[in-house]
Amino acid sequence: MIYTSHIEISENAIQNNIKFIQNILGDETIFSSVVKGNAYGHGINIYCPLAYKYGVRNFSVADASEAYLVKKNLPYNDVNIMIMSMIDNDQLSWAIENDISFYVFEKNRLQEALKIANKIHKPARIHLEVETGMNRTGIAFKDLPEILKYIKANQKHLIVEGICSHLAGAESISNYKRITKQRKKFKTLKKKIKHSYAITPMYHLASSAATIRYPKTHLDLVRVGILQFGFFPTKEILVHYLTKKKTFENPLQRVISWKTKVMDVKTIKAGEFIGYGTSFFTNQETKIALIPVGYSSGYSRSLSNQGKVLIRGKRYDVIGTINMNMMAIDITHAETIEKNDEVVLIGKQGDSEITISSFNDAIQLINYELLTRLPENLPRIIIK
Ligand SMILES: *Cc1c(COP(=O)(O)O)cnc(C)c1O
Repeated sequence: MIYTSHIEISENAIQNNIKFIQNILGDETIFSSVVKGNAYGHGINIYCPLAYKYGVRNFSVADASEAYLVKKNLPYNDVNIMIMSMIDNDQLSWAIENDISFYVFEKNRLQEALKIANKIHKPARIHLEVETGMNRTGIAFKDLPEILKYIKANQKHLIVEGICSHLAGAESISNYKRITKQRKKFKTLKKKIKHSYAITPMYHLASSAATIRYPKTHLDLVRVGILQFGFFPTKEILVHYLTKKKTFENPLQRVISWKTKVMDVKTIKAGEFIGYGTSFFTNQETKIALIPVGYSSGYSRSLSNQGKVLIRGKRYDVIGTINMNMMAIDITHAETIEKNDEVVLIGKQGDSEITISSFNDAIQLINYELLTRLPENLPRIIIK
């Protein structure tokens, strides 16, 4: 064992989740697989080839370095890659050369794209991001006519492949009014463009939450991230789905497991502190197992005295503070636990399971953040 812990990626779970998403969408809507944040911690190099195997041909990333990784792992002609956020002017020629599409939300990027497209004799494929109420990136409505005129004048070099926007929190009912306003604004825009400009872009608006909750937002393409990995964006969206379908069964399967092993076992007498500082005091003789994972491997320090792990199919508490490369588990009440026993940090063992969302209750970290903290260099192994 070269690494102190490893991640297992379930191919069956991926297949199941992709099928679930495709069934919701039907044939009219393209499923763009969002794989930013190293495929939500699952590994672009691992996840993308599997998604491709199960029929996904469209991928969305946040920046050019991620687009590069997707391209490297899927060097096929039928793969579409879209950059939704950052691309520097000096990365534009690589993107245009390689048919990578990218968001445009300000004039400078558009001008630079035109220059390069003109120079290399290849059109830039752009997605115009418009502002509908998220108030992040996005072109204001009042600036759109000018931008569209500019594009029309240079249509040999600038292809409007998409027009899009992002919803400001479709995963929570408390944003219902804001989301509805955004949806309507986008719809009005769509009509206007259809009547006034000779372009036929794809329209897209929805991420995972809207894909489940607001079917009207499916349009031509959806950008779905977290669902692929077996998580509903929030419990609220899960409950919405279950209620609508009149079922209790979660249709998604978790893809990721994270495992390590016991490196030492010892007994501490009563009346001692364990590890750094004074956060855990032994009121009684306490048996501990030490495991070689800490916050440098992405196990949040705020899980000190809070985390749970599985050993031999049972749950045990993390005690004391999480160190950089180590933590202690209270195994006082275990029958036998020995060096080299498998420890599950996330995932199943026997009939028990540690879910990422069980951490969230303890430390208020959302799934997205916990997943993307998993270091890139942990080995990821594909299992069935
Ligand atoms: C991250 C992201 C998504 C995907 O969000 P999920 O909630 O994971 O489905 C979609 N669109 C944009 C612009 C994003 O940044």
